[in-house]
Amino acid sequence: MIHPSSIKFVGLDLDLTLYKESQKIKDTFRDAWCKLMESEFKISYQKAQKEFAKYRKTISGGCEIAKAMGINQPEQFAMRASINSKMYLYLKKDEKLLGLIRYLQEKYVLFLITASAKQDAFLKLEKLGLNPENDFKYSVFGDSAGSGKANGKSFAKIIKLTKHKPIEHIYIGDSDSQDIIPAKRKGFQTVMVWKKSEQADLSLPSIYDLDQWL
Ligand SMILES: [Mg+2]
Repeated sequence: MIHPSSIKFVGLDLDLTLYKESQKIKDTFRDAWCKLMESEFKISYQKAQKEFAKYRKTISGGCEIAKAMGINQPEQFAMRASINSKMYLYLKKDEKLLGLIRYLQEKYVLFLITASAKQDAFLKLEKLGLNPENDFKYSVFGDSAGSGKANGKSFAKIIKLTKHKPIEHIYIGDSDSQDIIPAKRKGFQTVMVWKKSEQADLSLPSIYDLDQWL
């Protein structure tokens, strides 16, 4: 259960939280991933495709797939695959999301914690119709100094920036290992969107359901 009365800061993950993965995004990401495996690990594109397909079946999210594959610095690898994929080209303006963001901005201070690199994240946010400079008071990107989601560093950075108690922050994401668990470990309240989580304080069928709780 979340405690909305203590919340001052609302944090959002970007990838697979602010948008859902279309087939086009899936395909373009897989292609970039396999090309990166090909060049990094000196394996054939076909072998990379086979490997990716094997993990993709049960795991969603680049960081988690890279981790499951045993790739060194999985967040870095997923970040590079996302940049190379240019998946932002396939995102489009989401009026419903913009309405939710405007609503949240009236009541809370918003922050962003993403594993995507700053430039890549800006392109994605802009395609969704958001203003990355102004819509979030604080942002931590995958290539920000001293960042890291699974290890909790990005969450610690936010607390340093807001100078408020962890419990006054709520973080919304789509992944237990990248979002919910590390945020919870730092003392944030947590919401899983698009699916159920045993770990999160609240699970919602979509991000658009947030306004019923906050
Ligand atoms: Mg995500």
